Amino acid sequence: SEEKSLNFIEEIVEDDLSTGKHNGRVHTRFPPEPNGYLHIGHAKSICLNFGLAQRYNGKTNLRFDDTNPVTEDTEYVESIKDDVRWLGFQWANELYASDYFDILYAFALNLIKQGLAYVDDSTPEEIAAQKGTPTEPGTANQYRSRSMEENVHLFEEMKAGKYPDGAKVLRAKVDMASPNMHMRDPIMYRIKHAHHHRTGDKWCIYPMYDFAHGQSDAIEEITHSLCTLEFIPHRALYEWFIEKLDIFPSRQYEFARLNMTYTVMSKRKLLQLVNENHVSGWDDPRMPTISGLRRRGYTPASVRDFCDRIGIAKRENLIDVSLLEFCIREDLNKTAWRRMGVLDPVKLVITNYPEGQTETLFGENNPEVEGGEGGREIPFSRELYIEREDFMEVPPKKFFRLGVGLMVRLKNAYIIKCDDFVKDAEGNITEIHCTYLPESKSGHDTSGINVKGTIHWVSIPHAKTAEVRLYDRLFQSENPAAEEGDFKDDLNPNSLQVITAYVEQDLAGAQLGKGYQFIRKGYFTLDKDSTADKLVFNRTVTLKDAWAK
Ligand code: ATP
Ligand code: MG
Ligand code: MG
Repeated sequence: SEEKSLNFIEEIVEDDLSTGKHNGRVHTRFPPEPNGYLHIGHAKSICLNFGLAQRYNGKTNLRFDDTNPVTEDTEYVESIKDDVRWLGFQWANELYASDYFDILYAFALNLIKQGLAYVDDSTPEEIAAQKGTPTEPGTANQYRSRSMEENVHLFEEMKAGKYPDGAKVLRAKVDMASPNMHMRDPIMYRIKHAHHHRTGDKWCIYPMYDFAHGQSDAIEEITHSLCTLEFIPHRALYEWFIEKLDIFPSRQYEFARLNMTYTVMSKRKLLQLVNENHVSGWDDPRMPTISGLRRRGYTPASVRDFCDRIGIAKRENLIDVSLLEFCIREDLNKTAWRRMGVLDPVKLVITNYPEGQTETLFGENNPEVEGGEGGREIPFSRELYIEREDFMEVPPKKFFRLGVGLMVRLKNAYIIKCDDFVKDAEGNITEIHCTYLPESKSGHDTSGINVKGTIHWVSIPHAKTAEVRLYDRLFQSENPAAEEGDFKDDLNPNSLQVITAYVEQDLAGAQLGKGYQFIRKGYFTLDKDSTADKLVFNRTVTLKDAWAK
């Protein structure tokens, strides 16, 4: 296969390797904040970070960026680890920014002692006002000129719990006139008397992202620290801290985040959907979370393929969700086992098939693979369910399904001819009567008759009932986050349809995590709500793009 051209980050890495920077070492990290479940955007970052390490014989750390005790939780830590593993990646080290709280505190004292940080008693409003605007410089306040000794003393008192939340902050003394607002004496530490999921009540001061992230990268000697474009204005500060602390020179590089149509991609918004019960949980199959995609029936290979296809760029764009659907169809077409399930049943009686007789037919599992990956037994009898839409009372020309006088093949079974049908008082068709050609059995057909259409079916006495969940897009507009007002007003009220279907007997043994193609109806997977008494399937995706323009 043809070698893909390098993306701009791979070019940077290859350049660094060729100049001997970091002695040929490539060490990346994936740094989620454990304040929610991972989404498909995170998958892009995971594939990029772990993919680089794989390609260049490097390593990737999984680092939890857990510096905000209020929003973080161990439930999220566990889900993140599950999701990264499920995607097929293994981290070199499992690390936590909170493990660095002592070192970060020492770094802060170091900067104070260099005269590069000070304790500020201003309120958040005062600090914001003094920051100025992008076109006007900020102004220094009286706390900026505190002595080094006083700053050390106050910072120690902050740590010791002497002050309430918000009473003081520690700020870097950089440049109140910098054109980069992030350089106007950014806050390094704030007081928060809160319980942390790992450090408990040991700390009541917590470092800000900007004072934790780069320093964590440096501590771990990360060579290439990859983040999304909104961190471009933070880069100068990232480098300032590294320079002033004289620590390992990690470098930050920015790439465009993934945005996808018909969904939102921010943990804060996804959390709202969960908390307000618009979905059943973080792993609701309509969610763009990795756990939601997994439950929906997406495979790790399909998600990695998607991340590969969207590539890495420096400009934001909106990726069409149908590309993700394309990737799962591609994968499931090759791997899903074929089965039969009737979603909207109507009864069909084969009038010349003996009452009470049953025979066992054979259907291969996967026609895409040499040998078919074996097969399964399919019971056949006089009474079947077929799909209501496969019969028409007045069929148009070229309707290669059923209508009086028309013939079709029943998949893996016989050719049948429709003779008659029965209607109830309301005019609904309740029964279709057919005759079969005994010599037309699939694989042993000596009938000499060729029919154009093949339809799926299940034998009524052998059928299993199943709850089937059919999903549509969670939002109605392409870019719900860009809509005015509350993004939840754009939720699609018909994003979930629950129906009762009849499926072939073999599906009683369906495996969690495996994909099945219900012939002609789409790809399905068993849901975790399924029990021995009640089968539940999710439709992963239809066979064709229903929205194709
Ligand atoms: P969110 O806005 O959804 O809360 P976040 O950036 O706050 O996302 P983090 O847990 O900090 O979430 O993200 C971990 C890593 O994943 C970061 O390096 C971040 O840049 C990256 N990431 C997050 N969202 C996306 C996205 N949509 N596309 C690509 N990378 C992303
Ligand atoms: Mg973040
Ligand atoms: Mg966030």
